[in-house]
Amino acid sequence: MIPVTIFAGCDVAVVGLGLSGLATARALEQGGANVVVWDDKEAAREEVAAAGLSLADLSQADFSKFAALILAPGIPLTHPGPHWSVLKARHAGIEVIGDVELFFRERAKSGAGSKVVVVTGTNGKSTTSALTAHLLSAAGKRVALGGNIGKAVLDLEPFAPDLTHVLELSSFQIDLTPSLEPDAAALLNITPDHLDRHGTLALYAAIKARVFAQLGSDATAVIGVDDEPCRAIAETLHGPFAVKRIAVGQPVQNGVWAADGVIVEMDGGHEVGRAELDGIGSLRGAHNWQNAAAAYALARSQGLEGREIQQGLESFAGLAHRMEQVARVGSVLFVNDSKATNADAAGKALGSFDDIYWIVGGRAKDGGLAGLEPFYPKIARAYLIGEAAEDFARQLGDAVPHVACGTLDHAVAQAAADASLSQGPEPVVLLSPACASYDQFDNFAKRGDAFRELVMRLDGATSVTQQGRAA
Ligand code: ADP
Repeated sequence: MIPVTIFAGCDVAVVGLGLSGLATARALEQGGANVVVWDDKEAAREEVAAAGLSLADLSQADFSKFAALILAPGIPLTHPGPHWSVLKARHAGIEVIGDVELFFRERAKSGAGSKVVVVTGTNGKSTTSALTAHLLSAAGKRVALGGNIGKAVLDLEPFAPDLTHVLELSSFQIDLTPSLEPDAAALLNITPDHLDRHGTLALYAAIKARVFAQLGSDATAVIGVDDEPCRAIAETLHGPFAVKRIAVGQPVQNGVWAADGVIVEMDGGHEVGRAELDGIGSLRGAHNWQNAAAAYALARSQGLEGREIQQGLESFAGLAHRMEQVARVGSVLFVNDSKATNADAAGKALGSFDDIYWIVGGRAKDGGLAGLEPFYPKIARAYLIGEAAEDFARQLGDAVPHVACGTLDHAVAQAAADASLSQGPEPVVLLSPACASYDQFDNFAKRGDAFRELVMRLDGATSVTQQGRAA
């Protein structure tokens, strides 16, 4: 834990008691603040009482006695409307900040420092931050990974000069962090998302761009230039810091670009390094080339050599439920992409394989399978599960052979049997549901876990981990 001492002796309000809110309250208390916590949800409040934190109905409190309101990133700051606690804080004239702000202020105060590398973007944040942390630690550096992935930032190991904090940050977290001062920051991409919480794409992009606002002269900005909003931000980056552009399929002058599974590092228009992604199962697909290019640039900014990065890329296990290679039965590969809860995400997986036995369905999103038509020729057969089955059967029509399986266990059995008869070199049974899981599972992780268990029970299943690729 990182004790937060900047509010020692002060009263501080913490609203929103998920993982990061609880960590914040504990870190503030440890640092000597008088903390009062609240959550609108009763279940969250019960947990707090058990944790021994001081709970009070802050809707009735006088906010002028607080030094600050620490808001959880999941609670609306601006859109669709400010939470009542934000309005009370503004009325009382106190600041509204998040746990990542406490992290940076405490880092500035501690003097001990630690390197901080930040990753944000609409998609690929978790993969890129986990990969960056992996590259650094595989090269022998001490690394702590957290933020929007795994541990809350204040639950990470305290600052030390030989430690690198790798932080995945969502736009909500950035919005609550005016003192964001990383040593390197990557913005991967911007596509319309969370606009209910940010109002417009322009506002959303402006918040993301703040990761670069306070970079110092030794710092590095890594910016994807494959989409228009990010290209516009890249044009504004003229600081004292280094700027590395990231692209897929088109060369860059300074930075890292990827094509056909090869990453190329450029400096002043000249190639200065490259890495091979071919054969690295955890980094299949053009979207992962973008993630790998960003992680490469971040790793270089922290002093790694190309050779060290290549080794790290090869030992990256990937993240669970994101095109996770679970097992093989003979030549058939089983892939868990349960995190693909909409058609766009499923398209990334479908684009990454051929000869696909596709398990799809659950609780459909608006638009259903729209946009996936170009991938239909790669799909040998679709196995439909959950509420969406009937509707998806209609959408697939004659374009893709399909069968209604109802539940995941039937789908896995049927898909495994069909795939084992394929004459192709690598038939793939792919769970990439393009749907939410809530009709049959608590969440996408439970759905992915169930898939993994079903696969491992198949005759002859060898986990990909045992085969040495993942760890
Ligand atoms: P995030 O943390 O931003 O949600 P993840 O790394 O967890 O991103 O990936 C979630 C899903 O987003 C993946 O399963 C894939 O479908 C898609 N994805 C990952 N990286 C990218 C990328 N660079 N561009 C577009 N989509 C991506």
